[in-house]
Amino acid sequence: QKAEWQKLKYEPSVTADGKKFTIAANIGTPNDMAGVNENGAEAVGLYRTEFLYMDSKDFPTEDAQYDAYKKVIEGMHGKQVIIRTMDIGGDKHLDYWDLPDEMNPFLGVRAIRLSLQNEEIFRTQLRALLRASAYGSLGIMFPMIGTLNELRKAKSILNEEKDQLTSQGVSVGSDLQVGMMIEVPAAAVLADQFAKEVDFFSIGTNDLIQYSMAADRGNDNVSYLYQPANPAVLRLIKNTIDAAHDNGIWCGMCGEAAGDSTMFPILLAMGLDEYSMSATSILRIRSLMKKLDTNEIKELANQACFESKTAEENEKLVSDLMAKVD
Ligand code: PEP
Ligand code: MG
Repeated sequence: QKAEWQKLKYEPSVTADGKKFTIAANIGTPNDMAGVNENGAEAVGLYRTEFLYMDSKDFPTEDAQYDAYKKVIEGMHGKQVIIRTMDIGGDKHLDYWDLPDEMNPFLGVRAIRLSLQNEEIFRTQLRALLRASAYGSLGIMFPMIGTLNELRKAKSILNEEKDQLTSQGVSVGSDLQVGMMIEVPAAAVLADQFAKEVDFFSIGTNDLIQYSMAADRGNDNVSYLYQPANPAVLRLIKNTIDAAHDNGIWCGMCGEAAGDSTMFPILLAMGLDEYSMSATSILRIRSLMKKLDTNEIKELANQACFESKTAEENEKLVSDLMAKVD
């Protein structure tokens, strides 16, 4: 099987009926680029920049960040790279940043909340990203957006930094895109409004599932409630994809579900545009995509959201489907 998958390394990601989608890689550091290329990723769909902060002894300087971002962008030779601004807080802490203890860190000052409360640190990262954007095709993505105010604030800070750099004669990539993660249920519900103010969405199912099921993603004792295929979760995902398409923007997914064999046929039926996953999953999913015909699975989207009542029913739907195509 692995040998079969290897043959797909330089092939585009297409369905049995010839529809083209993007399979991208999630990375944590520029060192992951070798795996990205070895597995034939068509883009980087998520670069988690918090590791840059976690792996250093003090805040990484603008230049250190610029070097790391540029390395990844150049390494993709024009293919798109989505870089997420730091997602610190929650379970990710820095030795050199003394943040207050919180009762519920995953519901506390995390990700974009921390960035907006520490604007100088955020601005440094944005300048590094903007400077690096000149070397390829960059998408800047904000994590944990829950309200339009947060999005607008983040975008206005980004635009201020961009104008500042441009006025100093620094060039910024002409095809720079600005997007947001959909990982807070409120944003998934209100996706039609958010879609009017960004270039793309990327659904972060790792958090979206934990927040919508109220089940800690790392707690084994509630893992039975952490259900990617629960119809409630799927409705949020479908609502997000539909809102994106109704408003002419693309929608990706960078949570684990994108590379999950059970979730994948459902997501494909919903028309998700981009699937970002750990590099080692790419060829398996590309091979699965090749077996699926979008005309034949069309009904699956509505079935999974509105006819099935449980995650188990959806798992059965997909396993019955796979028994037919395999
Ligand atoms: C997610 O929440 O699905 C996601 C991709 O982000 P992280 O796993 O880094 O929280
Ligand atoms: Mg997340």
